[in-house]
Amino acid sequence: MFDKVLIANRGEIALRVIRACREMGIASVAVHSTADADAMHVRMADESVCIGPPSATLSYLSVPAIISACEVTGAQAIHPGYGFLSENAQFVQIVEDHGLTFIGPSAEHIRVMGDKITAKDTMKALGVPCVPGSEGGVTSLEEARALGAEIGYPVIVKATAGGGGRGMKVARSSEEMERAFRTARAEGKAAFGNDEVYIEKYLTTPRHIEVQVFGDGKGHAVHLGERDCSLQRRHQKVFEEAPGPCISPKERAHIGKVCADAVARIGYSGAGTIEFLYEAGEFYFIEMNTRLQVEHPVTEAIYGVDLVREQIRVAEGYPLSFTQDDLTINGHAIEVRINAERLPDFAPSPGRITQYHAPGGLGVRMDSALYDGYMIPPFYDSLIGKLIVHGRDRAEAMARLNRALGELIVDGVDTTIPLFRRLLDAPAVQSGDYTIHWLETWLETTLDA
Ligand code: ADP
Repeated sequence: MFDKVLIANRGEIALRVIRACREMGIASVAVHSTADADAMHVRMADESVCIGPPSATLSYLSVPAIISACEVTGAQAIHPGYGFLSENAQFVQIVEDHGLTFIGPSAEHIRVMGDKITAKDTMKALGVPCVPGSEGGVTSLEEARALGAEIGYPVIVKATAGGGGRGMKVARSSEEMERAFRTARAEGKAAFGNDEVYIEKYLTTPRHIEVQVFGDGKGHAVHLGERDCSLQRRHQKVFEEAPGPCISPKERAHIGKVCADAVARIGYSGAGTIEFLYEAGEFYFIEMNTRLQVEHPVTEAIYGVDLVREQIRVAEGYPLSFTQDDLTINGHAIEVRINAERLPDFAPSPGRITQYHAPGGLGVRMDSALYDGYMIPPFYDSLIGKLIVHGRDRAEAMARLNRALGELIVDGVDTTIPLFRRLLDAPAVQSGDYTIHWLETWLETTLDA
């Protein structure tokens, strides 16, 4: 059992982990940059340590500072949240070399899934269906063009080290291939220090469906159904729901088992998400995230389990606290990501919060580190809160979301709240009938109008 856990993160996800620790009787240590001295995670944790200046590279990404903070406070384990060091295999290795526990999968599993080509090869070998494409990396434009002709345009060129929607370029013809190939390589090199790229068929009408899995590290694993995250802007999710409106119980049981079996076979430990594109009744693997996802609360809502508590328990060496048969779906949940951004261009809008009021009532959960008078620093992600609603069915969840958005007050900065109010009026969103490309088109025609 851990007595003390350090949270190597900030914002709402740091609060999320502190809450789980407190319910488990575990003391929590917050780390923060000088810009976050007054942040809510610092106030809420049992202890806090300043680990550096505002720049994330010198604070939240500083491995020596975080390891030192563990040593100074006597924390035995580190929860990385999402982003920052959560998928950094080298960090995990260093944590373990210092006799500390990383709350998450092994360095090896993070390494395998962090490289998209290796991840795809591994999943394919484990029987997980993948998007048709190149076998491994593509090194020359000639090879890329030959593959484009073979697979059939449009295709997408993806950096193997890519993430966060970066390092991906679509080519609709042989002429467009040169630009797509060079740009994806350059982006991969600039953002991730790796210019290796691969090519796959570009699906034109898919939905984004991801399966939540959980492994005990000893060869057992379960799945917790899927989330539909098809409403995306620039490959970034903005609205997520569970269960997926277009997935039947039979499809869920099938793809869920494929995923759980795959992670069980590799001895995966902790929470993971296997992402698919779903088109015409078929699932196509795109990547695996070896961490807790931003949108995990929708899964928690419908399955009634605390995924962070489970992560901590598994890291402590306990078996999973639920079997596949224990996991049944109750109702429908939706999450919207509230960002401090100015519409219509989504420019970051940091600044002081003059008034904050969180919605409440039955089936409403607000995960946010905001408070009245809080100064949103300009140095980090623009996510300032997640509003999660749960209802008996999708219609009830939608009505509840609309009601809760009406109660939510975030004054002093621009936010994406007005976007969601308009989005809920769109017939496609009401019916759940859209692909991953729908939102971009809707934004162009609606926000500019
Ligand atoms: P990242 O690691 O940057 O999130 P992903 O591989 O998960 O990259 O892809 C992110 C998003 O990009 C997907 O949700 C989807 O919208 C789009 N995408 C990725 N691969 C394809 C593809 N083969 N066809 C169509 N869209 C794709």
